[in-house]
Amino acid sequence: MGIGMKTSAMQSYPRIEDVQKVEQQTYRLLEDIGLPFKTVLRFEWMNEKGTAVWTGETEEAGTIKIYRGCDPEVVAHELGHGFHEALYHNRKVELPYPFQYPKDGEAIGEAIRFFVEQRRGSSWRPTRDKQTLEHCGYDFGKFRAMVRVLAQEIEQE
Ligand SMILES: [Zn+2]
Repeated sequence: MGIGMKTSAMQSYPRIEDVQKVEQQTYRLLEDIGLPFKTVLRFEWMNEKGTAVWTGETEEAGTIKIYRGCDPEVVAHELGHGFHEALYHNRKVELPYPFQYPKDGEAIGEAIRFFVEQRRGSSWRPTRDKQTLEHCGYDFGKFRAMVRVLAQEIEQE
């Protein structure tokens, strides 16, 4: 009985199919923005409770650590970090508020997650790190226009 209780008390991983679905949905959203972003080299499944952690590895890719008990939608947030890195690295100068690197990174991640959740028909909203979403009025078209302007400024520099 002890073993059975231990198993049921242990937090499970999100299903791999769900993780991959969110990954693909996030790529489609980022493609719609039309700017460079980073993709997932691999997922690492961590045997402890937590959320997820992005690590940028190259100019085009990174790794996502997935902890037990996290929602598959956190993958959209982590890919948001990769998008932010690509935006920053291509620009090579500081980005303005609320797109600063790395200061507004959590808010960029939450914005990407919000827009992916919206497309999935979910009413999820972040409870913190909302400055980027508030700045664009929770509107994907406005967010897209804003980051595209930031990217264009690079080309003109
Ligand atoms: Zn984050």
